Amino acid sequence: MDAFSYRGNELYAEDVPLAEIATRFGTPCYIYSRAAIETAWRAFEHSLRSHPHLVCYAVKANSNLAILNLLARLGSGFDIVSGGELERVLCARGDPDRIVFAGVGKRADEMRRALEVGIHCFNVESVAELERLNQVAASMNRRAPIAIRVNPDITADTHPYISTGQSAHKFGVAADEAVAAYRRAAALEHLEIRGIAYHIGSQIISMEPLLQALERLLILADALASEGMALQHLDLGGGLGVRYRDESPPDPADYGRVIASRLRERKYTVIIEPGRAIAGPAGVLLTRVEYLKRVGDKHFAVVDAAMNDLIRPALYDAWQEISPVEKRARAEAIYDIVGPVCETGDFLGRDRSLEVAPGDLLAVRTAGAYGFSMSSTYNSRPRSAEILVDGAHPHLARKRESIADLMAGESIAPLS
Ligand SMILES: *Cc1c(COP(=O)(O)O)cnc(C)c1O
Repeated sequence: MDAFSYRGNELYAEDVPLAEIATRFGTPCYIYSRAAIETAWRAFEHSLRSHPHLVCYAVKANSNLAILNLLARLGSGFDIVSGGELERVLCARGDPDRIVFAGVGKRADEMRRALEVGIHCFNVESVAELERLNQVAASMNRRAPIAIRVNPDITADTHPYISTGQSAHKFGVAADEAVAAYRRAAALEHLEIRGIAYHIGSQIISMEPLLQALERLLILADALASEGMALQHLDLGGGLGVRYRDESPPDPADYGRVIASRLRERKYTVIIEPGRAIAGPAGVLLTRVEYLKRVGDKHFAVVDAAMNDLIRPALYDAWQEISPVEKRARAEAIYDIVGPVCETGDFLGRDRSLEVAPGDLLAVRTAGAYGFSMSSTYNSRPRSAEILVDGAHPHLARKRESIADLMAGESIAPLS
């Protein structure tokens, strides 16, 4: 479903005109659709219904409390990568017993807190981490539930910065060292082996690499079972891509069906960790055109959002559709849409054919994932507001940061 569509010449989020949101809350701002988020989550959930499963939304894609709470109400699990994300999930009333904790650099205090609240599983990424987790659990007289994240050495055909499952990457334990790592885990008294995990990358647009990784995981799971280390679950990570331009990623419904049918004869609970595929299409970044300018032959539309608000174009050379909020007849030209930040890489789109005038609103589409959550205050730009639309009701899910917020916590040194 696309919750963002035109009625006449006006772009809406569900039943709210984006122009109305701009008037009420200002720009730039992120706008999310409750219906789009819930529909996407339910598609994953429904697709796996024939098999024991847990859908753990990847919090880093979009960690706004209002969104986490929508998902918690549906009964979602959560994939977290830090103590900060853990507190967000708890604050949004997520169930700790449905949390999996990934990440290559977990600190002892983060482990302690996760054990205290009783998370579902630690996805451990090295033998050194096994040892540390065992110590922390011992100090609390607890046993920590673990899966080991294995690096299946699969090439996900995606941007190199978001590919994570090849042998040269920092993530997980190499496949040929996995059995030894599990033997070590089995010998540590305060660990309890629950499962095995992988996550091969993000914005993956074909089932192939995901299924190849699953096959490698099953071989490992069998090898472990033959040594008496029976697993309860397989965690297949996230990574399912979305359509930004002309990609045709597998539909969540098909993805789950294929996985469930491959695992039909197996008793493992399957865990999946979709982030982008749930939040991405459910959001837009709303921005206003400040100036049009021409430099030589080149036309620029200077807008009030910048790379600090949405870094994907600058960081990954990502393409996201940019649409007028009100279609009006104006002079058409080919524009680079750029922000006010002092970097040449500060663009939201290049070579776009647009009919715009100063003051017009533009919507950067498919911006719900890795948008706000990757934003910064570079150039001392306060971070934007976030609005969650539910039918005809826009809810301010995060108010715009103030300049005072930016400086909070800083102080001038008392120099003599
Ligand atoms: C980032 C991440 C995800 C989510 O990836 P998407 O591409 O957003 O689905 C899931 N699991 C782990 C371990 C991750 O690091």
